[in-house]
Amino acid sequence: MRRQVVFIGAPGSGKGTQSKRLVKTHGFVHLSTGDILRDEIARKTSLGERVSAIISGGQLVDDITTFELVKNRINLANNSYIFDGFPRTVNQANLLDSELSLDCKVVAFYFEINIEELVKRVVSRRICEGCGSIFNLVSNVSRLDGTCDDCGGILVHRKDDSEITVRRRMEVFENRTRPVIDYYNGRGQLNRIEAIKSADEIERQIGQVLGLNIVKN
Ligand code: AMP
Repeated sequence: MRRQVVFIGAPGSGKGTQSKRLVKTHGFVHLSTGDILRDEIARKTSLGERVSAIISGGQLVDDITTFELVKNRINLANNSYIFDGFPRTVNQANLLDSELSLDCKVVAFYFEINIEELVKRVVSRRICEGCGSIFNLVSNVSRLDGTCDDCGGILVHRKDDSEITVRRRMEVFENRTRPVIDYYNGRGQLNRIEAIKSADEIERQIGQVLGLNIVKN
C-alpha cells in the first residue's frame, strides 16, 4: 500500500532537512506547501501577490487556497509523498484524509522541540536559492561562506525567518497546528520525534518507523 508521510512541526524543527534526506535515499516525493507558496511569490503570480503579505507576516494562508495548491501538484497514481508543513489545520487534515488519502497508509511525525531552541535555529538558518538545501550559521555551516555545498547557489536568509516573525509563527503553530497533532494521535497515526537530536539520529528513527533500510557510514 502506498504511504503518505506527514511532517508536523514548528518552523526550524527539521522537517525540511529530513524530507530532503528521504527523497535522496528512498525516492519519496517531497511536497512542501511553504516552498510552493514561495515559488508562487517569486513568479509573481496573482496567487503569489495575494499571499505574500500573509506569509511575511507569519500567518497562515487560507485552507481552500492551500488545499487547491496541493491537489494541483500531486499525482497520486504512483508516488509516496512526504507532506512537509501540510496539513497545518484540522480542516486541512480532514481534506487530506477525505480527498487525497484513499488507499494510502498515513504516517505522521511530530518534530517536538522547545521554542527558544527554535528561535535560535531559525534566525541563523540559511537556504540555497538554487536547490533549497538548508544550512545554519551555527550548526551546519557551509564550506564556503554564503555558498551552497550541493549546487554552488547563493545562500539566503528567508524574509519570514526574522525573530519577530518566527515568534508569531510559533504562536500560530500553537493555536492552529497543535490540534492537528491531537488529530493524528487520536487515530493512532502519530510518531513523536525529539527534534533536538542529530539529523542522522532522527533519520534513523524515521527509517525505523517506516521500515526503511537507512545505512550510515
Ligand atoms: P514553511 O516554509 O512551511 O515554514 O511555510 C512558510 C509559510 O507559508 C507559513 O508561515 C505560512 O504563511 C505559509 N504556509 C505554508 N504551508 C501552509 C499551510 N499548510 N497552510 C497555510 N499556510 C501555509
